[in-house]
Amino acid sequence: MPIRTIGIPRGLLWHRYGLLWKTFLEALGFEVVLSPRTDRGIFEMGRNYSTDEVCLASQVYLGHVASLAGKCDAVLVPCFESRNVRAGFCTKYQSLPDMVRATFKDEPVEFITLSVPDASDKKHAGRAYIDFAATKLGAPVSQAVKAWKAAQKAQASLDKERAHAQEQAFKLLERARKRNDEAPLAILLAAHPYVSHDDYIIGDIENCLKELGVIMLYADETDAATAFKKSFETSDTLPWLINRELLGSIMLNKDKVDGLVLVSAFPCGPDSMFDDLILRTVHDVPILNLIIDAQSGTAGIQTRLESFVDILRFQKKGSYLG
Ligand code: SF4
Repeated sequence: MPIRTIGIPRGLLWHRYGLLWKTFLEALGFEVVLSPRTDRGIFEMGRNYSTDEVCLASQVYLGHVASLAGKCDAVLVPCFESRNVRAGFCTKYQSLPDMVRATFKDEPVEFITLSVPDASDKKHAGRAYIDFAATKLGAPVSQAVKAWKAAQKAQASLDKERAHAQEQAFKLLERARKRNDEAPLAILLAAHPYVSHDDYIIGDIENCLKELGVIMLYADETDAATAFKKSFETSDTLPWLINRELLGSIMLNKDKVDGLVLVSAFPCGPDSMFDDLILRTVHDVPILNLIIDAQSGTAGIQTRLESFVDILRFQKKGSYLG
């Protein structure tokens, strides 16, 4: 059956490349069906399809895949490899098509795989997308080239807009501090984008911090190229692109905030090393390290966030005794 509608699961790298994928497929003439935003139903479906070893973010992804069954002709499952050993991806992204196919082998769902060997190099990435459109979707090369250009432009413009908005927020905070205004507490939240921008995964943390009157800024909403470059001042060997960008962003922005919150989805291999790296190298800003899993109750997280914010407020006053 010819493919006319393509489903995109709103999980994992959707939060980094989602607009690019959607624009690309639409420019090739396909109708795109997005899975709904994560909610308890999606989360529970994902858990039912997962084994215990799978990280929380991947469990949520499987829930999104399941929600697309019967709603499209095929589901797009990308595979991001790690040709660049200083800008690679977690092995979960590389094995995603295999994991998804094995998980849904008894279900009537078709999958198409987009393989990107080196996403850190725009030319290589472009070739991978154009090749995918021509060989797997039957698009003429000229149309694929146009679709790639349009997709890249749309995603770059969104990324720039987000980074600009965050830059403005930092400037407002700085001005308030210079005027000695009672500037609100500001926290930089560092997490993979599918954790920090998935309302269901991060919702309790965000709501709690907002209720405590804290301004939240996001380490991933920054100029990615600048942050990537900056990361090499701290580590020559860190192999993961997203962690590198988070590291660079933390180093560029830590002096502008009152505290840093690291959030990881259990059991995340890259973050177990990354969080340790941050805790060992960043000593001039208070850090709270939260690991969330499928069993996380809100009470424990809330207590830790409240204590952390109390400490930041005391510190801002001068000291615990001030
Ligand atoms: S980086 Fe961590 S949270 Fe993300 S997919 Fe890999 S193991 Fe899961």
